Amino acid sequence: MPSDCIFCGQRPIDRNKEHVIPFWLIEMTGDPNRQLNLPYFASIREGLSDSFAFKSLVFPACESCNSGFSHLEEEAKVIVLKMLRFEEVDSVSINTFLDWLDKVRIGLWLGTLNLIGNPTGIVPKFHIAKRLAAKDRMVVIHRCEEGPTGLGVFGTTLPMFWHRPVCFS
Ligand SMILES: [Zn+2]
Repeated sequence: MPSDCIFCGQRPIDRNKEHVIPFWLIEMTGDPNRQLNLPYFASIREGLSDSFAFKSLVFPACESCNSGFSHLEEEAKVIVLKMLRFEEVDSVSINTFLDWLDKVRIGLWLGTLNLIGNPTGIVPKFHIAKRLAAKDRMVVIHRCEEGPTGLGVFGTTLPMFWHRPVCFS
């Protein structure tokens, strides 16, 4: 599993790397070199650092798989920028946004298992390409008036998410 393409699940052809947290989102929300602290992961996998640069969270992918999904990233970026400007987003865009959230969710799941060495021996039955729009989806967007700005990901570090990667924040 560690070297499988996160999009198709096969041994990567013309191997390259995919940011499971998209680089454009990392850049949009702060310094790409800022550190992500994951002491829990370091306690699970011996020798694993307890902090990583956001931009270093990349995982194996085929070149063609990765480029095939680049249009989704471009579309998602446009939609997120519209949302941040409080502009109207139509139903087609919301579906694209949900596709993108499927991609990020499954990418974070497979990336997390890869990073921590898959301690419970999970055998993924799907990868990103098979999971986009494959099940009902929903998203809740809440505007926070106060508190820190930036990017946080919640829920994906929990063992429950490793076994049932259905929900994240
Ligand atoms: Zn692939």
